Amino acid sequence: MHVRTRSVDATKELAAAVVSVVRPGDVILLSGDLGAGKTAFVQGVARALGITERVTSPTFTLAAVYEGSMRLHHLDVYRLDNLAEVLDLDLPGLLDDGGLTCIEWGEVVVPELPRDFLLVSIELGHPEDIADARVVGFDPIGTSWHARAGQLRTAVAPWVGEAGC
Ligand code: ADP
Ligand code: MG
Repeated sequence: MHVRTRSVDATKELAAAVVSVVRPGDVILLSGDLGAGKTAFVQGVARALGITERVTSPTFTLAAVYEGSMRLHHLDVYRLDNLAEVLDLDLPGLLDDGGLTCIEWGEVVVPELPRDFLLVSIELGHPEDIADARVVGFDPIGTSWHARAGQLRTAVAPWVGEAGC
């Protein structure tokens, strides 16, 4: 399922819509090149969880945790040494503490993850599209996300019409 956003704010609103289908213990993996909008998406997630603290890329801190209506873990595996550090983290314990975990550049962590996660892929629009366009793909992986695919589709429906690019 693909949608399109036309601004950073739209990406944040889209992320907030996704939060409406999120449950404690969920994992969202974010893929996409540098500057695609992964951190922007997590900022939208944080806002929807009522987190007022500023969410930045945790590249240098590796993993950040924010308290909101649900706890938010924000990980970024961009630097390769982060991967080793991430693998040193008690990932299962972290995923299990009843919060939502968002992992930028998360594909590399897939073997370490429980089977279920939502993969969110963010790409720049076509070169002839407006500069702020992003195409956001959603892939529900595992039974718990498959069971919610319909809900997710409904939640992101406002952006589906934007996908023609
Ligand atoms: P990443 O975490 O993927 O490296 P960031 O979220 O840090 O990317 O940066 C995305 C940049 O792209 C920000 O400067 C943001 O303002 C800009 N941007 C422009 N249009 C969009 C959009 N539609 N969605 C997300 N970010 C956008
Ligand atoms: Mg980032």
